Amino acid sequence: MKTITVAKGDGIGPEIMDATLEIIMTAGAQLNIEEIEVGEKVYLGGNTSGISDASWDIIRKNKIFLKAPITTPQGKGYKSLNVTTRKFLGLYANIRPCKSLHPFVATKHPDMDIVIIRENEEDLYAGIEHQQTDEVVQCLKLISRPGCEKIVRYAFEFAKKYNRKKVTCFTKDNIMKQTDGLFHKVFEEIASEYPDIENEHWIVDIGAAKMADTPEVFDVIVMPNLYGDIMSDIAAQITGSVGLAGSSNIGEECAMFEAIHGSAPRRAGQNLANPSGLLQGAIMMLIHIGQTEIAEKVQNAWLKTIEDGIHTYDIYKEGVSNKKVGTREFAQEVINNLGKAPKTLNTVSYDNENPIQLPKYKRKPLAKKELLGVDVFVHWEGTEANAIAKKLEALNNGNLHLSMITNRGIKVWPNGFDETFCTDHWRCRFSAQKDNTTKEQVVQLLSDAITKDIDVIKTENLYAFDGTPSFSLGQGQ
Ligand code: NAD
Repeated sequence: MKTITVAKGDGIGPEIMDATLEIIMTAGAQLNIEEIEVGEKVYLGGNTSGISDASWDIIRKNKIFLKAPITTPQGKGYKSLNVTTRKFLGLYANIRPCKSLHPFVATKHPDMDIVIIRENEEDLYAGIEHQQTDEVVQCLKLISRPGCEKIVRYAFEFAKKYNRKKVTCFTKDNIMKQTDGLFHKVFEEIASEYPDIENEHWIVDIGAAKMADTPEVFDVIVMPNLYGDIMSDIAAQITGSVGLAGSSNIGEECAMFEAIHGSAPRRAGQNLANPSGLLQGAIMMLIHIGQTEIAEKVQNAWLKTIEDGIHTYDIYKEGVSNKKVGTREFAQEVINNLGKAPKTLNTVSYDNENPIQLPKYKRKPLAKKELLGVDVFVHWEGTEANAIAKKLEALNNGNLHLSMITNRGIKVWPNGFDETFCTDHWRCRFSAQKDNTTKEQVVQLLSDAITKDIDVIKTENLYAFDGTPSFSLGQGQ
């Protein structure tokens, strides 16, 4: 008997959770369920995190969490509980299998069988955002070496364990050379340790187009958080419905299982939603905790139900489906099919094996770090790059000299174009005239800026690591 935490969530959450629990418990899952309240009610009760401390204690004690979708209220002040849970519990790998059920669910892609492995803790989902000037807000994109190593290694270990032939990496490192560049570099490093598994890299935009058009050329795809979020919704939708896919969120200690879709508030309370996504999440959970016989029984009954053409509205299609049913009726059909197997779709059988465990991340030896200059971000409401350059050049000291100004990343000084549109947010790069500079020189420059009434918003130090300058050039530089 395993004690798990369950949250019924918002919108369609309670309906699909009731359906899922009824199916797996009738199938014989050995579960003791501790239910917690999270989401909308908790948010609107004044708790901006959407969860109480007592609920965190229960999640951490039980370690296995089955969660229905949660509505994150729109607007400032509310943080997504889904993202918080993944990060607090260190659930670094999000696994999202998307497989066609041809010819029983209408799809343009009969041979699609991909697994998206989404980095789950960092990227733009660090959620670090600031307004800096009247006109400009920013979101920090954080990508770390441990984050990349863990997710990429997980993807290759997953491919090895499940006899997948290829791991593809999607990034946008032609533009984001530092952040996505690191993800791609780590992918190349780790791929070389798995010579039996094919590997390739695609720029995410054309990769996305290819996946939407010809998904059968992909097998396992690993990607940073934001691309993984978007691409997995697309992948699930083109198998037939976003309501079909489940996901596991795996960490070293804890794991969370859910549907990939959200709380679909417009469909709530009408006995309409497809419970399959959450059921798939629950099946992944049963495999994870070693109740593989039950997982198998449920999956085969579900496949048979789909094969019999018993479909919820999202996958119902005249000529393909046999009967349109609601959430409860669908669950009842799956229960009636427990112990039976599909005829055309492949019957599944799961081995009882341990979840993938990665070696602990070991911090690398520290690099030699030199300070080469500083980017000073300035709020200035003028529009003439030459005029701001003149103000900023007055800060040149013995070593730090203004070398470039960009506006939204594009170089506007020296030799900018009159056509370039400028906002009130200027990045002014001061470079060391000698090999490097010191923090004292930077502080002196900033204190000089205050006396000259220059509105400095923030600075970014420009470093070289082991002799390699590690910051982006200005566009057009
Ligand atoms: P959504 O996934 O909830 O719904 C989009 C549309 O997809 C729905 O209108 C519906 O037509 C269809 N759909 C989704 N699930 C379905 C199912 N099981 N059966 C049939 N049709 C289904 O996306 P959204 O409308 O952008 O988000 C609604 C809320 O969910 C937001 O508050 C969002 O923050 C939240 N959300 C939560 C999670 C999570 O809990 N993991 C994930 C994504 C979004």
